[in-house]
Amino acid sequence: MAPGWKTAYRDWAAAGWNGVAGPTDWGGQGLPHAIGAVCTEMWNAASMAFGLGPMLTVAAAESLAAHGSEELKATYLAKLISGEWMGTMQLTEPHAGSDVGALRTRAERTVDGSYRLTGTKIFITYGEHDLTDNIIHFVLARIAGAPSGTKGLSLFLVPKFLVKEDGTLGERNDARAHSLEHKLGIHGSPTCVMVYGDRGGAVGYLVGEENRGMACMFTMMNEARLAVGLQGVAVAEAATQRAVAYARERKQGRTPGMDPTASVPIIAHVDVRRMLITMRALTRAARTVCYATAVAIDRARRAADPAVRVAGEERAALLTPVAKAFSTDIGSEVASLGIQVHGGMGFIEETGAAQHYRDARIAQIYEGTNGIQAIDLVTRKLPMAGGAVVTAYLAELREMIDAVRAANDPAFGATAPRLAAAADALERATSWLLATLATDPDAALAGATSYLRLFGATAGGCMLAAEALAASRQADGAADKPGRIAIARFFAENIAVQAPALAEIVTEGADAALTGTAGIGRS
Ligand SMILES: Cc1cc2nc3c(=O)[nH]c(=O)nc-3n(C[C@H](O)[C@H](O)[C@H](O)COP(=O)(O)OP(=O)(O)OC[C@H]3O[C@@H](n4cnc5c(N)ncnc54)[C@H](O)[C@@H]3O)c2cc1C
Repeated sequence: MAPGWKTAYRDWAAAGWNGVAGPTDWGGQGLPHAIGAVCTEMWNAASMAFGLGPMLTVAAAESLAAHGSEELKATYLAKLISGEWMGTMQLTEPHAGSDVGALRTRAERTVDGSYRLTGTKIFITYGEHDLTDNIIHFVLARIAGAPSGTKGLSLFLVPKFLVKEDGTLGERNDARAHSLEHKLGIHGSPTCVMVYGDRGGAVGYLVGEENRGMACMFTMMNEARLAVGLQGVAVAEAATQRAVAYARERKQGRTPGMDPTASVPIIAHVDVRRMLITMRALTRAARTVCYATAVAIDRARRAADPAVRVAGEERAALLTPVAKAFSTDIGSEVASLGIQVHGGMGFIEETGAAQHYRDARIAQIYEGTNGIQAIDLVTRKLPMAGGAVVTAYLAELREMIDAVRAANDPAFGATAPRLAAAADALERATSWLLATLATDPDAALAGATSYLRLFGATAGGCMLAAEALAASRQADGAADKPGRIAIARFFAENIAVQAPALAEIVTEGADAALTGTAGIGRS
């Protein structure tokens, strides 16, 4: 690891940050997921390459807590929650990326009840390092004779060092990093090719039941998908802060009517301010979607009323792909604008603007590409409960818009009518997709990415307005009232206005997309 990281990691873990939302029975602080989300954003804004390791450890601990045997929990859970040991999450193989069901890593049952794993995993985040004394790998593999596809996958806990009965570390397991990838960004995060079974098989312990590995992995993946969405927000926030600071310092040009020999900080130029407010508005909109997802997860897990828990689970399921893809697209867009604000200096590494851009890009790819998230939203999440889950959510967005309209505060400008038009567009596109999915699935999929953007922009716009309205009801000077209203209004009038066009791509664009792309790939 890079110099200084070991100390930074150990100090960070010793201060209890790894276990913010972890279960108290195993040494966690038991705080709501919403608090965990806020912390995740801050760590990743400071360094995404650093934040990524703990993110996967927390997700792995979550899966072990939900599905592991008491024996496995007793040996590993407290150490994963405290961060004394870190965890990894291993699905990807050379021929099995988005298509996880194609993976070939094998697991053989042994007489003592453990398994021996053989195979190769690629792109494994924090697969090897010296930040912690042990690394606990969570590996998807197929037990001999299991069905093909995802239905035949099982999840295994494979420690780097085997743990003796007294809890001390024993032999090195037959699991090794074969090489490190050279990447576009997140250079501080070791991404490894992992090899299992060079010496007869890596010892692994089943988590959950045989062939139910995807269900266990999904506990981890949903957690990780929201966290990756938060990485998008985090990089966007860091890029925005850096760009604002630069725009205040860099002097260039004049504003109309000024002394021709003087120059102004570039923040005085309308186009630079346009970029900065766009960065801020997009970042905050993405943040609202991520926080709303975290709150839904809290309701799903903590509400006393079972009906509220079910509604929370459904809401979290609906919003997770939007939180992941919308926020990470925004992470890249905002980081790109950040470079633009810096001009040529943005392209030069020393300002740090380029690093945000390089780091942000992976978040659109890992934890299920953003294309796969859009497909998940359209094909699995919209049809939940016959469309009732998304319909209830749309009704809630309408209530937010009605409240802004009813407030009748001129500072909101055209926020309410613009958001109402966006909600109409989202409703149109949703009804069209629900009707078309069964009859013409390709047409529905052609607009899936535009639909996800439409969903995120409408939801984010409404939540920004609701947040600004709440701030407007606080005493003057509290909660940055004018700033919040200005951002909500800008988002509604300059960004959410794209919603009707996005809806049109969904409902009218499929034919051109499908006929136009039919020839692509022909040589
Ligand atoms: C830095 C880094 C860290 C990573 N960390 C981990 C990790 O810790 N653990 C782990 O298991 N993996 C990890 N990954 C792997 C990552 O999750 C995969 O790269 C990702 O899921 C995409 O798989 P792929 O690269 O094989 O792309 P492919 O699946 O080949 O996809 C290529 C393109 O085709 C599209 N596509 C593929 N299938 C479909 C489909 N059915 N419908 C529509 N479009 C489709 C994709 O959206 C994408 O645009 C990491 C990758 C990187 C680069």
